[in-house]
Amino acid sequence: MIWDSLKGHQHQMEMFRRAIGRNRLAHAYLLIGPSGIGKRYFAKLLAQCLFCPQFSDEELEACGECHACRQMQAGTHPDLLEIGLPDGKRSIPLELLIGDRENRGREGLCHDIAMKPMSANRRIAIINDAEMLYDESANSILKTLEEPPPGAILFLLTPDIEPILPTIRSRCQPVRFQSLADEDLRELLLQENSEAGELPHELIRLADGSLDTARQLLDPGLDKLRRKVSALLTQPTLNSGQAIKDVSEILDELGGDPATQRKHLRWVLQFAIDTLGRKLKTAENVDECDRIGLMLDRCFETELHIRQTMPVPLCLEALFASLGRRSRGMLS
Ligand SMILES: [Zn+2]
Repeated sequence: MIWDSLKGHQHQMEMFRRAIGRNRLAHAYLLIGPSGIGKRYFAKLLAQCLFCPQFSDEELEACGECHACRQMQAGTHPDLLEIGLPDGKRSIPLELLIGDRENRGREGLCHDIAMKPMSANRRIAIINDAEMLYDESANSILKTLEEPPPGAILFLLTPDIEPILPTIRSRCQPVRFQSLADEDLRELLLQENSEAGELPHELIRLADGSLDTARQLLDPGLDKLRRKVSALLTQPTLNSGQAIKDVSEILDELGGDPATQRKHLRWVLQFAIDTLGRKLKTAENVDECDRIGLMLDRCFETELHIRQTMPVPLCLEALFASLGRRSRGMLS
């Protein structure tokens, strides 16, 4: 019933059902997988099943209608705690875990999870962006993981396991999630945007199984950028001057701070690589293959330049100037 709303991840759900059936529910799980594929939604469904009084834990089901279920759907259940990386921050602030200076140890997730549940028989915490837990914040969560409150369950969500401290890793049970299948992603997008109509194959392919990425790609500005880059590079040879002018114009419209501009430039590259990759598949002779290969190499080089913080306009000009030459078979 309640799990019908979940796309993919059935295997992970069955794993939890078996664990609960055997009374082997751990107190902490590391949910690992690309962002935007539904890890948080999965954790919330699990919590809802464990909070819903209409079903036993072993059934791992929720009615969707009781007070607890309605609170979960509204995001107001008092026994579900959730934190994540606030906008503009580079790490999860300590106060979210143990309270600010004035209230140290009297507030925050590590404090709240140890409190008696208000309406359910346990408290559940979701920690998004767990790879952004450093230093004191990581230590605070480690203490909670070392002495977990009875019945409490913590879900730490992360795209990668590598940045998670080994001490945290060793106290959590890892559960790996895969990207969404294209058809699941398509269905979710159509549910959200009933007016979207036909979703381009490119968009689904570029989203790479991530609903978050697909949502970004549906943004009209980014959509315009994708179409423009694709149209420019589909031509037999590239007019560099025109490309620089057209793409710069759209990037200016998109605006944003330097970090956002860099993100947009990364998209230009993604769009270029995607278009050239498609072109390569239909290339008619070796010469054409070579030319496209050289253009792709240039895109990969630019990826490095972006990381080396070369200014965005400079990167863009150099990229398209070189792509133009390479589209004519010149290596420079
Ligand atoms: Zn219910």
